[in-house]
Amino acid sequence: MISVVKIKKACIAVALIAYLPLNAAAWGQTGHRIVGQIADNYLTAKARKAVKQVLGNESMAIASNWPDFIKSDSSFNYLTSWHYVNIPADLDQKGVFNYLEITKEANVYNKIPEMIAILKNKQSTADQQQMAMRMLIHMLGDVHQPMHTARREDLGGNKVSVMWFGQRSNLHHVWDEDLIDRQQLSYTEYAEAINHPSKEQFTKWSHDSLKETVYESYLACNKIYDKTKADDKLSFRYNFEFIELLNEQLLKGGVRLAQIINDIYS
Ligand SMILES: [Zn+2]
Repeated sequence: MISVVKIKKACIAVALIAYLPLNAAAWGQTGHRIVGQIADNYLTAKARKAVKQVLGNESMAIASNWPDFIKSDSSFNYLTSWHYVNIPADLDQKGVFNYLEITKEANVYNKIPEMIAILKNKQSTADQQQMAMRMLIHMLGDVHQPMHTARREDLGGNKVSVMWFGQRSNLHHVWDEDLIDRQQLSYTEYAEAINHPSKEQFTKWSHDSLKETVYESYLACNKIYDKTKADDKLSFRYNFEFIELLNEQLLKGGVRLAQIINDIYS
């Protein structure tokens, strides 16, 4: 006979699995697709043709989700750390730049240039190119999710428990999905709604280095940490306060992704 204790233990185990920190989850499906969809708008004719050759009939929006879909396959476990870069608190710009330079782990900052190199290399096989393109599209999204450049000790906010409109969530998840889902738009509607960069923004974002991009996300995560504490009850006010930052990060991701791909196939 199964004892009550055993059932309780089993329930706890299931609950723990359900709440395993998903540091690598990144923008949920919709967030990643928004970035891919926006980027698609800014491809040159040459780049569009090349992307089509690599991805076939898979759109950039749909390709963006592949790295999250393959997580159940343990042969891809080595990709887990590619989705983020943990950065210590209280660094200034120089400190962040130095940290990125000396950190040799497989993180989103180190792996983006590797994907670009694979796509530029004419010796890369079709499979290598397909994977590199899917990862690149995904990682450009991740690096714009501020909680993907956050602290190691709380797993990028995964350990910061908060309430979101009355539901238990955590700070990382709020930024991966809750805020985006709250807007109740499909990814195409969302992309269309926010895809209005000014000329100045477009030019600046297109020319920023990857280091600057990471630093910008880091500043955003500092702001988020400042304004969100454990057990906070987040709802309308939080949505109002952060929607602009959220949308700008998604838009920047799309603009910069297009720039990178246009450069690869220039
Ligand atoms: Zn990710």
